[in-house]
Amino acid sequence: MSTIFGPVFSRRFGASLGIDLSSSGKQCNFDCLYCELAPAPAIAHQHTITPVETIIADLQESLAKHPAIDVITITANGEPTMYPFLDLLVDQIDTIKGDIQTLILSNSACLNDSNVFNSLLKLDQVKLSLDAATPEVFKKIDRPAEGIDIGTIIESITRFSQVFKGKLFLEILFVKGVNDSINEVEALNDALLAIRCERIDIGTIDRPPAYAVQGLNFEELYALSRHFDPALPIHIVSRTHASATPSPYTDEEILTTLDKRPLTRDDIHALFDEESKQRFQTLLNQGKIVQIERSNVIFFTPTENLHRKRAK
Ligand code: SF4
Repeated sequence: MSTIFGPVFSRRFGASLGIDLSSSGKQCNFDCLYCELAPAPAIAHQHTITPVETIIADLQESLAKHPAIDVITITANGEPTMYPFLDLLVDQIDTIKGDIQTLILSNSACLNDSNVFNSLLKLDQVKLSLDAATPEVFKKIDRPAEGIDIGTIIESITRFSQVFKGKLFLEILFVKGVNDSINEVEALNDALLAIRCERIDIGTIDRPPAYAVQGLNFEELYALSRHFDPALPIHIVSRTHASATPSPYTDEEILTTLDKRPLTRDDIHALFDEESKQRFQTLLNQGKIVQIERSNVIFFTPTENLHRKRAK
């Protein structure tokens, strides 16, 4: 079976070819409640390892078939940074990728390993998960292998964010009744304020999870998003929007809402009823609202807010 999958298209990353560093089956140092793969005990090391040459040969074949690729995404049925030859693989991808960007999707657990840290520094884009900031909630939601500590993970992400020259994205996945308390959001907020990143995607379960847990609806996710510091680049991922019930907003409420948290078009469609959408459009036409771009995602914010932030 090829170690390459795709192309997969996403609005945020474009056309991507995925590399699966555990194509034989799940190998992960977490056993997350929400995992889309079957439950499996967390392990510290990969036991089935695909040779680098196999992956590079598969990648060359796929790139020949699909030349219009924006990004090569390093991922796994499990955690890609557990792959012991990651550094060599990244170097070899660099020799054949041309202008294509490289991206890794990681659960952050191995970032304290200096080899992994340095390998990730070579990539163009890195997306790291951070589902919790307190040890109790971290153990409950991500069910890590023995010895993995959330304090060390947060410290490593913070350090990485200070030296990484590419684009860093964070992702938080909320599970109902597990990591969605105000206390946990405040702890996450404190951690995130020290991390420099392009965007923080917050989302919830949208595919059958490994264990019997539930996601949040859009209103719950949106309410949580408002507990984060407005300066943080929080983005609610779009798959949750379908569950929303639109409500009426006055002009002032629209501006106050956008002042607390810049919103995307999808957010606005989900939150605002038809009249409020027209009011939003009028405010946009009048220049009272402007759009800003954060790594391929367009947000709307009050013009005054933009001036205030620039003045800081
Ligand atoms: S880190 Fe990813 S692959 Fe591993 S258990 Fe969690 S969701 Fe599944």
